[in-house]
Amino acid sequence: MTSFVGPTSVGHPVRLKPDLQEAIQTTCAYCGVGCGIAAGVKDVDARLINVAGDYAHPANFGRLCSKGTALNETLGNSDRLLRPRINGRDAFWGEALDAVAAKLADVRATHGPDAIAFYVSGQLLTEDYYVANKLVKGFLGTANIDTNSRLCMASTVVAQQRAFGEDVVPGCYEDLELADLVVLVGSNTAWCHPVLYQRIKAAKEKRGTKVVVIDPRRTATCEIADLHLAIRPGSDAALFNGLLCWLADHGALDASFLALHTAGYSGALNAARADAGDMAALAIRCGVPPADLQMFFRLFAKTAKTVTSWSQGVNQSSGGTDKVNAIINCHLATGRIGKPGAAPLSLTGQPNAMGGREVGGLATQLAAHMQIEDVGARAAIARFWQARELPAKRGLKAVDLFDAVARGEIKFLWIIGTNPAASMPDAERVRAAIASCEFVVVSDCVSDNDTLRHAYIALPAQAWGEKDGTVTNSERRISRQRALVAPVGEAKPDWWALAQVARRLGFTAQFNYAKPAEIFREHAALSMLGNDVGKPRRLFDLGALATLSDDVYAALAPVQWPLRAGTPAAGPTVGPTVGPTSVGHPPASNSRLFTDGRFMHSDGRARFIAIATHMPAHATRDNAPLVLNTNRLRDQWHTMTRTGSVPRLVRHADEPLLEIHPADAQALNITDKGFVEIKSAQGRALFRSEVTSRQRQGEVSAPMNWTRTIAPASCVNTLVNAACDPQSGQPEFKHTPVSVQPWQPSLEAVLIVREPLSLPQADYVVRNGAEGCTRIRVACAEKPPSLLSWLHAQMQQVVGSETQLRWLLREDAAAGRAALACFSGDALIGFAALQLQGSPARTGWLQKLVQKGVLDDGDRLWLLSDLLPPGESPCSRQICACFQVTEQTLRDAVRGGCRTVDALVARTQAGSKCGTCLPELAVLVEAGQLRNALQSSPGIAAQSV
Ligand code: SF4
Repeated sequence: MTSFVGPTSVGHPVRLKPDLQEAIQTTCAYCGVGCGIAAGVKDVDARLINVAGDYAHPANFGRLCSKGTALNETLGNSDRLLRPRINGRDAFWGEALDAVAAKLADVRATHGPDAIAFYVSGQLLTEDYYVANKLVKGFLGTANIDTNSRLCMASTVVAQQRAFGEDVVPGCYEDLELADLVVLVGSNTAWCHPVLYQRIKAAKEKRGTKVVVIDPRRTATCEIADLHLAIRPGSDAALFNGLLCWLADHGALDASFLALHTAGYSGALNAARADAGDMAALAIRCGVPPADLQMFFRLFAKTAKTVTSWSQGVNQSSGGTDKVNAIINCHLATGRIGKPGAAPLSLTGQPNAMGGREVGGLATQLAAHMQIEDVGARAAIARFWQARELPAKRGLKAVDLFDAVARGEIKFLWIIGTNPAASMPDAERVRAAIASCEFVVVSDCVSDNDTLRHAYIALPAQAWGEKDGTVTNSERRISRQRALVAPVGEAKPDWWALAQVARRLGFTAQFNYAKPAEIFREHAALSMLGNDVGKPRRLFDLGALATLSDDVYAALAPVQWPLRAGTPAAGPTVGPTVGPTSVGHPPASNSRLFTDGRFMHSDGRARFIAIATHMPAHATRDNAPLVLNTNRLRDQWHTMTRTGSVPRLVRHADEPLLEIHPADAQALNITDKGFVEIKSAQGRALFRSEVTSRQRQGEVSAPMNWTRTIAPASCVNTLVNAACDPQSGQPEFKHTPVSVQPWQPSLEAVLIVREPLSLPQADYVVRNGAEGCTRIRVACAEKPPSLLSWLHAQMQQVVGSETQLRWLLREDAAAGRAALACFSGDALIGFAALQLQGSPARTGWLQKLVQKGVLDDGDRLWLLSDLLPPGESPCSRQICACFQVTEQTLRDAVRGGCRTVDALVARTQAGSKCGTCLPELAVLVEAGQLRNALQSSPGIAAQSV
């Protein structure tokens, strides 16, 4: 085995995979951290690949989270869209592209360019994004191209433009390790940016970094928090306004920086005083103890090396832009920007939200950070593209775009790489709008999702591992995503499909691309427009990469912009994964912006923004007394289209749960894990409850990942109001007034089938992928006359009703029990039982039987019983996705004497690979310690009880 020479100075993990000696360096497809992956192709035809963190990549230095480590398990083709479809039938590419181009030309001629709209995605590669934006803004004559990045970080885009004069992230990930104080606002970093969380945690262990978490919920991130401010939703701008007042009143300003490099301080301070000048009133408004508020203010004031990072909890608000500026104001006031360990650092949700902004993927901007309102920029880009002219007015932002679709104003809609029927607010209205649109094209890599069901034309896209291009992560670092295996079926790159349509419209010369390197070079060349050497108008400039050869593009190592002298940074694509010093990448540069205090406004000064009092768009009321907040599952990405196909990623959270505070649950007669019905002005949904004090009283929270395709009654975005930030158009996913009440089904059942044909029609249905089979939970409100007939009918909807199927049935009507097994020939293909009988403990064993198919006598003996065969372990929630360690195993280990997380890791292996579950291990250890303390001190126990 080759010896490993790994990083030691910042606590990076040290490990070597001997089978990855010939690894291809690529990038994770999920969050904005943009982790480097070393992929070892074991069998290209069988699509067998090993993945490990790339030690040389400056985003992760070898780490990956649970989602990243499972990327190789998403390469199967069972749920892929394999060829184009027109109106539900298979079609040839040429036929589909002809139809798309003909309809585009027809709509443009008949209804004008603004009857066309594109809705794209932060999952696209930069090359795909560039071609989409060029086609729409350059050649279709409309700016109606928006992206799901509007839902993710549009508020930060506008706030950074206001403060800095350009949409740029000033800091870099290294700042999180150099800081003495890290403030995480509205960010469950432990689950949503797990590798950055691990970097912060490692730095904290090494150098004692203080961590403050500002979030209404006590999330897993709080495991490393020295202070958690569980603020009232929507009070973040007031909190940072209050902080600005405190800094001013306690001599914590950087007077020189203020005078030399900023403008607008007095106005911002006056507005802050009017909004949040009174500490006692502010503490009440934020809903936190005054002492905690003071502790945070003191800590911030005295810690020069402070990084504030935020994510969707700040952005997804009707006042998101102001909230971001309130944070940036405090960094400007203290001069904490452009310095190692001192920066405001937005954490982008999506893998290529930054790349999308670089090419102008939002309806409100042009390519390369140029503005639609800038006549000179429009003319320069038109000349560069050989286009006649670019649209002079902004296009429709996401919510407005789908409103226009609903009104029938959009006659042609092309959706690429995203699932707006589930991910937009007021999602049922959006689904209905898409369904009503005259002509809908959907490009996606999967065969089914909430949006694809309404596509007139579906185009098969390439997935991770097949795609080839670039992405830019949250710290401005461009990395290559490289193809590892051949595309399935007839899947094509999105840029290819877009260019083919453009060429059919007559723009052959302008879209004559043969490979992504050509597109990248053009994108880089465009970024130089109007950027004079020595006096750049924009920091985003990839000019040094505009002439790179195909070979250099193929070998491009991660590179951060602004580019340094000596770029392009070309390293080998294939080489031993033996640590950053020997992998061939140049040493990672970590560029910070504004180190000289010069910003991108024409006078070189940053702007303070005066932030007035902000309240969420819709207040609670008598019939909607609780505030609904949406969150994300630890092991799932977005609407689960890829991660949902990996059984071990499903087991951490296999049912939709609504978190509710114990006091609210008690007042509403809601029991833990009972069903609840949630209603808002927009819709209704069914979830199970999770009664937990992690949730603030008066508020509830549910994940956004469940869709109608997986859990038809539990798509939380059908509840979310579509109020938007007036500046950024970003929707307020974090604050919808709702009512919650218990929902009592008369029947619950679990169905386990090898290959479901469809989902049963029941009030509550949840589908989970499992190894070699699918598990479906069902509940219905009305009690049927016959339990067994009902169960049989449910099962027939899932497996079909062919006469050759054989059924084994068992019913005890008096006891309310029924179960059945379905065989095709000798093979068991499905099993169903009322929940009373098929208790959850048996589920894992039954899944194994369905997967196995042909049963032995022992299996048959226990199949329709109520019991688990001897030697089989009861099902339990999975905590560690890497080693599939269950909660029960961990609890047993804690009971068996594991007093620390390290001991628990050593005993069970949980947390020893990607580390994503470590915060949950800490909670279990803490609970065990508390139980031990109570048991050894009966007095305390009595008090506690
Ligand atoms: S943190 Fe996880 S999901 Fe995000 S890029 Fe890294 S491995 Fe992928």
